[in-house]
Amino acid sequence: MIMKEQPLKLHGQLIHPGENREVGYPVGSLPSGHRIQASIHVYRGMAPGPCLLLLAGMHGDEINGVEILRRSLDEGMFGPLVAGTVIVAPLLNVFGFINFSRDLSDGKDINRSFPGSVKGSLASRLAGQITRELLPVADYIVDFHTGGASRYNFTQVRYSDDNAASLELARWFGAPFLVRKSVIGHSLRKTATRMGKPVIVYEAGESLRYDPAGIREGQRGIRRVMAHLGITNGEEESPDPVELSESTWVRATHAGLFLWATSSGSFVRKGQTLGDIHDPHGKVHHIVKPSRDAWVIGHNNAAVVSLGDGLFHLGWT
Ligand SMILES: [Zn+2]
Repeated sequence: MIMKEQPLKLHGQLIHPGENREVGYPVGSLPSGHRIQASIHVYRGMAPGPCLLLLAGMHGDEINGVEILRRSLDEGMFGPLVAGTVIVAPLLNVFGFINFSRDLSDGKDINRSFPGSVKGSLASRLAGQITRELLPVADYIVDFHTGGASRYNFTQVRYSDDNAASLELARWFGAPFLVRKSVIGHSLRKTATRMGKPVIVYEAGESLRYDPAGIREGQRGIRRVMAHLGITNGEEESPDPVELSESTWVRATHAGLFLWATSSGSFVRKGQTLGDIHDPHGKVHHIVKPSRDAWVIGHNNAAVVSLGDGLFHLGWT
């Protein structure tokens, strides 16, 4: 475990043991000329210890992660720390947040722009800032996300096999499901993994909609990781997650009106009815069934679906 020597330098500011500081990062400006700044909250314990980096809102419409960190900051969950450092970035994509959008205004996705650059697109510049300034100081990273528009993710943590410590971190965090997923090209998770950092992605609910259970579980996971790392003295009950080694989406074989009959979080049997697709005239009726027993870890809340749309995200141990 890397022990942080004192003081910690972030964006030109020195933050000493026992000190808490809000560090502002300029991230660009609006066409109106208004300057945009992202705020990072740094908490340091007096004793040396690991540095935990908590990131949310890289996709501006993924509100549950933003709310998990906002609520945690508001409730004073990070202070005073016994040891080590916690860095909290509750809203990385200010532009997407104010536009209710996953992406930046040019349609680019920060989480597909890593490791980023100094002179590229805005997404690439923001990714580059995170890669250069935040990832190097972190020993453990949790990146909070939410399902897409109308795609609901049951509370889950995603990790990859590329770094053995990522599975360990996932187990400390705990969640109803721990899902093994390969890293996506040009994502934060890929860059952090290449840097040898244990990193997990937390997923809960769908975009622009609160998921109260997922928010509570996210906070509990942070408390468990902090206690496990010795950053706090807190105790949290150990979860008993279902560990899934593979997962895939069941896709619509027809377009039409979609009604799901099985909610996420449940275990389903081969051939069981998961949902139905109907045509608007009451004539055609297609039942959606799994081809094998599975856990349902996500579903589509859209009323109207097209051929090939993901309907249910199924996972297997
Ligand atoms: Zn996301």
